[in-house]
Amino acid sequence: IFHAGIVVLLVLAVADEASVQYRGRVAALRRLTYLARHDQTTGALSRAGLIEAAAQWGGLPKAVILLRVERLNLLRASLGHEVSDGLLRAVAQRLMAQAPRLVGYVADDTFACAYPLRDDNGVLDDACRELAAKLSGIYDIIGHRIHVELSCGFSTGVVGADVLLSQAETALLHAGAERAAFVGYSPADQQRLEERRRLDLDLRRAIEDRQLEVVFQPQVDLQDRAIVGAEALLRWHHPELGLISPASFIPLAEETGLIVDLGRWILEEACRHAASWNWDGRMSVNVSPVQLHLSDVPAVVAAALAISGLSPSRLDIEITESSLVSGTGSVTGTFAALKRLGVDVALDDFGTGYSSLSYLKDLPFDKLKIDQSFVRAMGDDAAGDVIVASIVSLGRSLGKTTVAEGIEDEAAALALTAMGCTIGQGYYFGRPVAASTMRSLVEKTGAPRERAVNGA
Ligand code: C2E
Ligand code: MG
Ligand code: MG
Repeated sequence: IFHAGIVVLLVLAVADEASVQYRGRVAALRRLTYLARHDQTTGALSRAGLIEAAAQWGGLPKAVILLRVERLNLLRASLGHEVSDGLLRAVAQRLMAQAPRLVGYVADDTFACAYPLRDDNGVLDDACRELAAKLSGIYDIIGHRIHVELSCGFSTGVVGADVLLSQAETALLHAGAERAAFVGYSPADQQRLEERRRLDLDLRRAIEDRQLEVVFQPQVDLQDRAIVGAEALLRWHHPELGLISPASFIPLAEETGLIVDLGRWILEEACRHAASWNWDGRMSVNVSPVQLHLSDVPAVVAAALAISGLSPSRLDIEITESSLVSGTGSVTGTFAALKRLGVDVALDDFGTGYSSLSYLKDLPFDKLKIDQSFVRAMGDDAAGDVIVASIVSLGRSLGKTTVAEGIEDEAAALALTAMGCTIGQGYYFGRPVAASTMRSLVEKTGAPRERAVNGA
């Protein structure tokens, strides 16, 4: 009896152990399935989870709406992951509270919701508008007040949610390119997307195939009109499409991350040219906010200076003001690192972004470039002049050099000089020209004086 008892106890113990292991395995499997179907940061369904869950509606017509949080990358770059993740969670919660049938987080800055439709009439503008209105606005995240804007792309049909998702993605891309808030899928979008893909592939080959050119636009001292600097601007000579404006291919390069390689190349080219001319004026190079986010810009600048032998004191890095969501965090660090290298930092297109006075106070920058839209509005009405005069005065009071871009006539040049603006740039003084032309221009006019360069 004793031995039989021991055997029974052993069997029970083994069975118990097996059941614990079984339960553990089931729980682990459930967790894995949950993880595969959900996003951990937001708690929303993953892309695969959304497609799988929508499959239960079978052949019913369905709608997929994509909502993209605008400028999330910039926000992450300036305020960090903790804040951007907090914002994504808050957006997901608001979206789930609207009770659409399925809510997914399908890309870095994009949410999706899917639901069955009674009929496939394809009109979803109102639903998008309503969702966007409820989700956009102010969010308070870890002490930061963040203004969220959304764009929407949508698609409807009796096809699978995977197809609707990619069609809505195409529509969303279209919305971005057209700066429209709500866009429904149409087959023409697909064609446009294919064109963009082709352009992206072409752009990747453009540097090697020598289709890219850096051109230079003179910057003059407004007092005596001597050329004291040049801004490097990119041009793409496409073999079939002809000259493509940077305004259309820079955003594409930013979207795909190619701007990092492009930006490095431009910096090296601009520094190389400036160092090889018999001239000691300044060279200005544009740096995209995406470059700031994705690469170590001060290291890239240091390398370009070392390769070319250009003195850091002759280089300006132009950063668009609209890219500064906040003057805190990594942007301040990057500005400070650039200053330590000995280069100057210019805030480009000033007046078009948030123009927050707090970052004017906090950021270590040297030059304020007044956006050309203000300069070109001068003379049209009294307000145009007052705005430019105020920016010049603000810049001067802060001890910064002020640069006016987009000067197209003598009247604007004179008015800006009278306001005390230091440097001028625009078609009136010279359009962007090839390196060889710029070289002969600056070598002819001789070396600029330090006074004009520093705007004292
Ligand atoms: P931006 O940096 O503000 O450059 C000034 C733009 O204004 C240039 O256009 C220039 O040709 C144009 N411009 C200058 N003076 C006048 C004028 O008097 N009237 C008018 N109507 N326009 C004038 P562009 O070369 O087409 O460049 C457009 C934008 O593309 C640039 O604006 C800059 O944001 C971006 N970009 C150009 N090259 C580069 C580059 O190498 N890297 C990066 N990241 N961005 C670049
Ligand atoms: Mg610029
Ligand atoms: Mg500008």
